[in-house]
Amino acid sequence: MCMRVQSAATITRVYDAGAGVITLPAGLAPDLTLRALLAVVAELHLPVLDGQPLCWCGQPLTLGCLIPRQRTGEETVGAA
Ligand SMILES: [Zn+2]
Repeated sequence: MCMRVQSAATITRVYDAGAGVITLPAGLAPDLTLRALLAVVAELHLPVLDGQPLCWCGQPLTLGCLIPRQRTGEETVGAA
């Protein structure tokens, strides 16, 4: 099963090995979210290619809506 990345306001477990889910704090700036993900990825000894964290299988770990590809605006993530 591929690793998944999600954000949550309350984090009980950054990495859930059973579910294969990495949880990052919601509401962080995209840069900080990526940095946090890279820190977790390093902790888990997952591969990183050109600053892009990868799953064990080599698939890019996408943050989905967490990290907008283009910096057109500062979107608040997870805030009401
Ligand atoms: Zn995978």
